[in-house]
Amino acid sequence: MDASKIVEVIGQFVSLKKRGANHIGCCPFHNEKTPSFYVSEGKGIFKCFGCGEAGDVVKFLMKHEHYTYPEALRWLAEKYHIDIHEEEMTDEQRERQSERDGLFHVSEFAQKYFADLLYNDEMGRAVGLSYFHSRGLSDEIIKRFGLGYCLEEWSNFTDHALKNGYSETVLEKTGLTIIKEDTGKKYDRFRGRVMFPIYSISGRVLGFSGRILSSEKQAAKYVNSPDSDIYNKSRILYGLYQARQAIAKADKCYLVEGNVDVISMHQSGVENTVASCGTSLTTEQIRLIKRYTPNVTVLYDGDKAGIKAALRAIDLLFAEGMHVRVTLFPDGEDPDSYAQKYGSNALQEFLNTHEDNFVLYKTRVLLESVKDDPIRRAGLLTETAHTIALVTDLMERQEYIRQCSYLLKVSEDVLTHEVSKAINQNREKTYTAKSESPDTNSQPTPDQVSPESVPTPSQDAPSTDNFALQPPVESERHLIQLLINHGDTMIVQTFKDEDGNEKKTEYSVAQIIISDLRNDKLAFTDPMCQRIYEQCSLMLDMGGHIDIQRFLSSDDTQLRSFVAGLMVDTYSVSDSWMKMKQIHVPKIEENLKQDLTDTLYTFKRQRLMQMVHSLNDQLRTADETQQLQLLTEIKYYSDLARTIGQALGQVISPRFN
Ligand SMILES: [Zn+2]
Repeated sequence: MDASKIVEVIGQFVSLKKRGANHIGCCPFHNEKTPSFYVSEGKGIFKCFGCGEAGDVVKFLMKHEHYTYPEALRWLAEKYHIDIHEEEMTDEQRERQSERDGLFHVSEFAQKYFADLLYNDEMGRAVGLSYFHSRGLSDEIIKRFGLGYCLEEWSNFTDHALKNGYSETVLEKTGLTIIKEDTGKKYDRFRGRVMFPIYSISGRVLGFSGRILSSEKQAAKYVNSPDSDIYNKSRILYGLYQARQAIAKADKCYLVEGNVDVISMHQSGVENTVASCGTSLTTEQIRLIKRYTPNVTVLYDGDKAGIKAALRAIDLLFAEGMHVRVTLFPDGEDPDSYAQKYGSNALQEFLNTHEDNFVLYKTRVLLESVKDDPIRRAGLLTETAHTIALVTDLMERQEYIRQCSYLLKVSEDVLTHEVSKAINQNREKTYTAKSESPDTNSQPTPDQVSPESVPTPSQDAPSTDNFALQPPVESERHLIQLLINHGDTMIVQTFKDEDGNEKKTEYSVAQIIISDLRNDKLAFTDPMCQRIYEQCSLMLDMGGHIDIQRFLSSDDTQLRSFVAGLMVDTYSVSDSWMKMKQIHVPKIEENLKQDLTDTLYTFKRQRLMQMVHSLNDQLRTADETQQLQLLTEIKYYSDLARTIGQALGQVISPRFN
């Protein structure tokens, strides 16, 4: 973190201009023409005043490049030439790590070899390349996806790899080579197939999918790499490496069935397209998409198998909180054939005009399949209710109920009842699952938090304070601002001891604020301020240091945005003024002390007045004994507020007396 320069890093992705103490540019996270995206070199943070996105340099990489926390750190380490020492690795782990490296190396080697054969081998050109060309793929797109060809010989690749020093073990583990147990004979798994390499998000080759070209009956049309230390088919999406930026930009992901569909969609200019490779969609794959967008449109051809597969996917997608739409291609066309027949403009036009709502679509398909059978129709009602129950957005859910009740010819009340029954059933399931998983309450520290980990369910709002009747006040924010920006600054305080001798002590701004509020048992009305205050007090109790990094690398966007907003000074300060400011350095400390006292007093006064106000309300309904008690309290707090007001040079009108 110390080595990385935030302006330099963000400048690689966003064009930044210097303004005052900050750099500004157009926000990469939302569309804008006038810059409201601020980067502060000094504070190491960015903050967009348009959409609120904010954080430190690691958070920027995670958001912009969709890296996980460790991936972002590795990126920075590479950029700033820092060796990462994986500490406390056991021998076994080290061995495993080098084995993984071996698998990566041989996969990359294989990809290069197959791609080379496609263009530079006679058979490669005659069989492999002409196949791709016949599918309408251009050389440019073939190279972009790293496509290749594995020769129709028993062990051409295996021999070549062994000659280049790769071990049998590694070749077997990646599944590139199959070794017969009884005879020890080695042969190529993908012989005679065109090769589709499968990349990780960061562009490393993890495995392959190979399509057979001969019409051999027993052979499977597609063969995929078996799962290994680097390849796990349920956690990989074909085309994601090439599609990720386009998905984020379009805020939408098209999900298709086959590798060739992905490639021809890309070639037609629809680059936000991926496919699940050789599996039905998994939760892990959905979470991969969710890193980039919550919006998924499923494209599939209208045959029975396609519809079935798509319907299976819906519950999974909804359960992950995705917004799902569906596009059905006409008469057995798929994205590939459609693009080839009508061209890319027509394809894009078709996609833009044929999106359907998945819940309605599912209901229609099921409705058609049950026809007028009353018993199966009743089952359909339950099934539809279960799907709607997975929709988390209330408005959306209501809309589905309205539309589906129309389709199913039942009243909205009946369907609403079924849906709430389904919701309760889901909830019971969740509760059982929760009570089984231990230790759900422990809060992970920032470096334990992986973006892939399941987000903890949002905490219930803190119990409302009796006095929290007023909207958040400016003084609360200002107090938090002091805590964040100057929490560790030491301030000298003078006081008189019992004998009347003047004594000096040093306290940090955080110590002063926190101990003062604790003494008076005061809390913030604004939940965000209260949350930051509580965390700061915890930090102070633990070690005495206010660690702002904790807030800036939080997974909570609102928290990051709030804290960074209080840190970035958006006023454009002219250089001459800065120079003037430097002349009066001692003055700044003096100002800070004054500012701190004023803010604390203002905050307290406002809180006291809120208390008085609330007690006054209670007075109206109180009986006689209570009234007496309340009046005493009101007088006490009013006096206190007035004293503070006088200290601030403001006299409060005795409204409550
Ligand atoms: Zn923005």
